[in-house]
Amino acid sequence: MKNSGSEVRRVCPAHHHTGWCLGKTSEGAALFRPEVANRDVAKMNNAPPTVIKMYAAREEIYPREISGRYATLRWACVWLTQAVFYGLPWLNWNGRQAVLFDLGTRKFYIFGIVLWPQDFIYLAVLLILCAYFLFLLTAVAGRVWCGFACPQTVYTEIFMWIERKIEGPRSTRIRIDKQPWSANKIFQKLTKHAAWSAVACWTGLTFVGYFTPIVFLQHEVLSLTLGPWEWFWILFYTFATYGNAGWMREQVCKYMCPYARFQSAMFDKDTLIITYDQERGEPRNARSRKKGTDHATDTVLGDCIDCSMCLQVCPTGIDIRKGLQYDCIGCAACVDACNKVMDKIGTARGLIRYSTENALKNHLSIEQIKKQAMRPRVLIYSGLLLLIITAFFMRPNFAQAAQARCHPRPWFTRARS
Ligand code: SF4
Ligand code: SF4
Repeated sequence: MKNSGSEVRRVCPAHHHTGWCLGKTSEGAALFRPEVANRDVAKMNNAPPTVIKMYAAREEIYPREISGRYATLRWACVWLTQAVFYGLPWLNWNGRQAVLFDLGTRKFYIFGIVLWPQDFIYLAVLLILCAYFLFLLTAVAGRVWCGFACPQTVYTEIFMWIERKIEGPRSTRIRIDKQPWSANKIFQKLTKHAAWSAVACWTGLTFVGYFTPIVFLQHEVLSLTLGPWEWFWILFYTFATYGNAGWMREQVCKYMCPYARFQSAMFDKDTLIITYDQERGEPRNARSRKKGTDHATDTVLGDCIDCSMCLQVCPTGIDIRKGLQYDCIGCAACVDACNKVMDKIGTARGLIRYSTENALKNHLSIEQIKKQAMRPRVLIYSGLLLLIITAFFMRPNFAQAAQARCHPRPWFTRARS
């Protein structure tokens, strides 16, 4: 934008030229009215420049520990997924590692099945099935994968547990972080990072153990005779786990996860989301009693006592009372927190709950919400899923091929050795 004497000129946003524009916007309105433009530009030229930052530093989030139905479910997912991930490479099957993706010999061993390079179609079909299942799950239950079983959530949960055990609960952690450095603070921080690093290293080692027999790998680690690629991938996966679960946490979900970006395309007004019941909760007011009247304004109060517990337990630091936000990973920690508050003040649970946009608007019952699950989008995803599974298993040679692959094979020698 320029101001030369009394003439005011600026770049036309539609036609990219300077000077007055007689062109029209798509709505038919004139792009510039000289008197308005002159006045606006004169005002703007006198105003101090505004700097718009493209980067915002992360604000530390201190999620409060919470127990409840959904916290238990999340921990069950943590145990289950980690038992499978850490345990599977140690399982043996007919004298060899049960699950091994041996890139050196180009054979994938999955229990009794051995896949060769020409069998990659099976892996491709498996990946397509997983993707479709995830689409179906998202259409019905929203971000339930993100909140309970995604590796980012699972490792963050483990790392936060370690943090709480070493540094203490939320209030203590906030206090410690505000204090100046002391011997005790340094010791606590070092212990925490050492514990995080140990978990991250073990995770990196296990990951590589799916590609190199883990029995050999552990000997190589202990004798420091790892190959360059093994070093690279162990360190890469270790740093990724340590960085993502220890430092970046909610930033991964907010800014890096590609699935978070496109899953809203699978949402509709009947998808389950974590919702705050505005009608029931508002007008909120900080108080210790259940319902009542704000005597200053003579307003009948809602059920929300504005205790901020839902905000304190949120791993992404958002206030769900402001409505559905893309940062919400659907972990339901706020549901557990609010239910506890409702129990304490002696009113019905579910001020924050799993519901749908449609159910909130039309006051649908749980039975009606369940019925809405059988809608065209869900039926199409289910139909496609069934079609792929049926087509895959009905392939004439699949049964013989699977049978042939089930024959036990002698233990292989590693390509590198
Ligand atoms: S936890 Fe429940 S009562 Fe407390 S602020 Fe959140 S919505 Fe309101
Ligand atoms: S708003 Fe609730 S469900 Fe969403 S991320 Fe925060 S705690 Fe989890």
